[in-house]
Amino acid sequence: MGVRENIRLVQSRIAAALERAGRSEDLVTLVTVTKIVAVAKIQEALEAGVTHLGENRIQDAAPKIAALRNRTDINWHMIGHLQTNKVKLAVELFSLIHSVDSVRLAQEIAKRALQQNKVMDVLFEVNVSGETSKYGLPIAEVVPVVREAARFEGISVKGLMTMAPFVPDPEEVRPYFRKLRELLITLRESGVGQMEYLSMGMTNDFEVAIEEGANIVRVGTAIFEER
Ligand SMILES: *Cc1c(COP(=O)(O)O)cnc(C)c1O
Repeated sequence: MGVRENIRLVQSRIAAALERAGRSEDLVTLVTVTKIVAVAKIQEALEAGVTHLGENRIQDAAPKIAALRNRTDINWHMIGHLQTNKVKLAVELFSLIHSVDSVRLAQEIAKRALQQNKVMDVLFEVNVSGETSKYGLPIAEVVPVVREAARFEGISVKGLMTMAPFVPDPEEVRPYFRKLRELLITLRESGVGQMEYLSMGMTNDFEVAIEEGANIVRVGTAIFEER
């Protein structure tokens, strides 16, 4: 199966998961994660109609974004850990940063965005599972940190993101996705930011994530792996 067929399959699995969740009217943004693939392969995905691409390292993303700069229909998503010294470039290159995890990083993004006369859309990453190997805010810090960061001019806080632990049975991570959704609702009810997006679900678990309310999924392997 080629990239086009893989994308069609992922899209139909997204539609089926929405159906199961009684959300068939909802839209889910498929972010095609291109971190492991070169521009020629990305072109195949673009030809199949995807317009949201995700990268997790600025230094890998920058040359690809440069190579595809004539494709003004692409929305580039920064999904990996962001270092303060790369923020200026991230603000230039991406339309949504999924991985903000501190007030300090939010403040730097806001500052750089203002310098570039823009408002940067961001999500806060939450370490719902509490694994020490993972980036993201601990659950207890989400509300106070997001509340503080949402006051900065130059950023617009649009929602939350998480990465679930990798386990063979995706049913096991359902509670983490449910918890992220509860946090989003809590923030929404307290009027913090514009809490629109729940970015959760990858190749292994995107269907469960959609059943639990995801409206952005980030899928790489299922699209680019040869089968
Ligand atoms: C790599 C990556 C993905 C995609 O993972 P797959 O399992 O290949 O679908 C999603 N989100 C983040 C943050 C990633 O780094």
